[in-house]
Amino acid sequence: MKRRDVIKGLTALPLVGGFIGSAFPLDAVAEAPVTPKRDLFKELGVTPTINAGVTMTFLSGSLMMPEVLEAINSTSHDFANMYELQDKVGAKIAEMLKVEAAMVTSGAACAMLLGTAACITGTNADKIKQLPNLPGPRAEVIMQKSHRYLFDQAVSTTGAKIIEVEGPAEMDKAFNSNTVMALFFNAAEKSSVTHEDFLAISKKHNIPTFLDAAADVPPVENLFKFQKLGYDLITFSGGKMMRGPQSAGLLFGRKDLITAARLNHSPHEAPIGRPMKVNKEEMFGMYAALKSYLERDHKKEWEDWLTRAKRIGSQLETISSVKTATHIDPGPANAFPSLDVTWDPNKVKIKPQEVLVALKNGTPSIVANGNDQKLNIGVVLLRPDQVDVVAKRVKEILQQAV
Ligand SMILES: *Cc1c(COP(=O)(O)O)cnc(C)c1O
Repeated sequence: MKRRDVIKGLTALPLVGGFIGSAFPLDAVAEAPVTPKRDLFKELGVTPTINAGVTMTFLSGSLMMPEVLEAINSTSHDFANMYELQDKVGAKIAEMLKVEAAMVTSGAACAMLLGTAACITGTNADKIKQLPNLPGPRAEVIMQKSHRYLFDQAVSTTGAKIIEVEGPAEMDKAFNSNTVMALFFNAAEKSSVTHEDFLAISKKHNIPTFLDAAADVPPVENLFKFQKLGYDLITFSGGKMMRGPQSAGLLFGRKDLITAARLNHSPHEAPIGRPMKVNKEEMFGMYAALKSYLERDHKKEWEDWLTRAKRIGSQLETISSVKTATHIDPGPANAFPSLDVTWDPNKVKIKPQEVLVALKNGTPSIVANGNDQKLNIGVVLLRPDQVDVVAKRVKEILQQAV
């Protein structure tokens, strides 16, 4: 189905009318959102926000693609057996990503917890029932010291203890009979063990490897790269640049481990993953998001982002001393263009942080990034009609400080 058809199809459904604008694909026509019949933001007094930053959970992640909203709406009128749905969606996703097995989780953090649980319990029903209070010594997960991060609490929630190592030799020595998994944080700033060594050492000890690549598309190739390297389990967020439901994510890799992860998850009533329920809307939605992401014209999307940055930049550079430059984050997380804005503080008398506060408190409310030296304006999460809105607001604020 063509995007225009999807959009037309959506207009026919009264309930989704309000979402159409916010779901416009990046390369679609630049129209303002359709005025909704019922404005729930207004009804509840919630401030709609323009995201001129990156995907952030506190800011509701991403805007779902029209294909995702269509998947959610078109499947919401019937019940489905959730075991069957996870079977079928998982098989399809596995086929698309060229892996043995896959499942939809409630996000990458959930995937980390379920992956760890799978490595601890396998398919043992008693262990699944007792987790996180297993008798005996605690399970151990090996991580590089420089890879420790906020999200590893999703690993220790299973009761597992994280063992920090530095360098291949120390890693090799850290394995013992309590070791269940080795976790690699793909976007870590520093690694003392390379992917190749990490995989070889873990394999030598016959311990499964888990890669957290939650925010690591684009490029789309990353969805295929790490299974080829040899990781046993891999996660990506669904609600970041894939633009699926923010409450969805992918866990994929070895079949026996995915089977074990599923036994630790909803719709089973009791296990550790039960509170991280995923319903059919997220499953159909995640599938539609992945399919749409794989089929997207990534080159065109990239060009569109560069055009946006240039367009905002040229409007801001009309102010005395203001300079702009397209910044491309080297990744692996958030590897896409944004716009750096700098100025002579003697000519434009405002600090970047003060601009951020003014943007946030203004109407419309805009969230951007920056530090002492510069303002950074994200372009990839803007609706087409918001590009000029952001340029205008930033220009107004800077102009007032001249
Ligand atoms: C965003 C992120 C997560 C969590 O992903 P969710 O899908 O929001 O649960 C985990 N790890 C990294 C590196 C992330 O960037």
